[in-house]
Amino acid sequence: MSLPVALKAALRRKEFILEYQPIVDLRSGRWTGVEALVRWRRPEGEVILPDLFIPLAEQNGLIVKLTRLVLERVCTDTAAFLRAHPDFHVGINVAPADFHAGGFLDSLQQTLKQMGARESNLMLEVTERGLLDPVVARETTGLLRRHGFLLAIDDFGTGYSSLSYLESLELDYLKIDRSFIEAIGTGAPTSQVVGHIIGMARDLGLCMIAEGVESQAQADYLRRQGVQYGQGWLFGRPMPFWEIVRHLEEEAAQEAGPVRAAG
Ligand code: C2E
Ligand code: CA
Ligand code: CA
Repeated sequence: MSLPVALKAALRRKEFILEYQPIVDLRSGRWTGVEALVRWRRPEGEVILPDLFIPLAEQNGLIVKLTRLVLERVCTDTAAFLRAHPDFHVGINVAPADFHAGGFLDSLQQTLKQMGARESNLMLEVTERGLLDPVVARETTGLLRRHGFLLAIDDFGTGYSSLSYLESLELDYLKIDRSFIEAIGTGAPTSQVVGHIIGMARDLGLCMIAEGVESQAQADYLRRQGVQYGQGWLFGRPMPFWEIVRHLEEEAAQEAGPVRAAG
């Protein structure tokens, strides 16, 4: 069976699961949200990572269906938690085709209704590639934002968006691509780029999330530069949602202080 055919069958059988990676406030260390990352789990147990099948899904007209399935899974995994935590957000990766397909807003709203959650619980992550068409980009981002969804530009720095173009879009967050975080402190020519990106995001009044933070030195540098949030192995690898909930419960229990013995 060819891979596209296998992928189509997998979509029908719903062989996709989600892992969630924490997004962390660099000052307080608190987990303020997560990003949902899809995995293809074959019936025999093998797990395939998205870099292998997302491009295939996009090329074969299957991505819109996959995004719907992701929304369905987010709903099952996180609804109960989000109802009790209105400030927490779940990031969802949106492909260019989703953005251009009709009915995207409807399927988002339907998901929210099922979850009993709010628009601001969902952060839509769109790459610069997804925003290439200025007319569609402006209309769609404007529409989603007016409805209260949070919008993030993903993998920032890897595309060619100009400052003036970004300014014309209504965005909330800018996710700095991992390649720039990797370069911090290495002395490589690209190690200077992150400083420019941070300055630009600040000028635009955007909140920043640094991707792929692996070391404490990177986290410290980013915090000093005024980057608000981080995501990466330093804080946590992608994990099942119940592990996220367990961490947050432990954090809350610690903040509440030791329980005094009765009597
Ligand atoms: P992304 O949106 O940039 O997601 C972050 C990727 O970086 C994830 O890879 C994550 O596991 C990885 N990562 C996080 N922290 C670190 C770190 O500290 N070091 C390193 N080396 N890597 C880190 P993953 O899960 O393999 O996903 C790869 C890409 O697949 C995502 O990149 C995203 O573009 C795409 N993707 C994932 N889930 C979905 C989805 O539901 N829909 C769509 N359309 N694309 C998705
Ligand atoms: Ca992303
Ligand atoms: Ca990214």
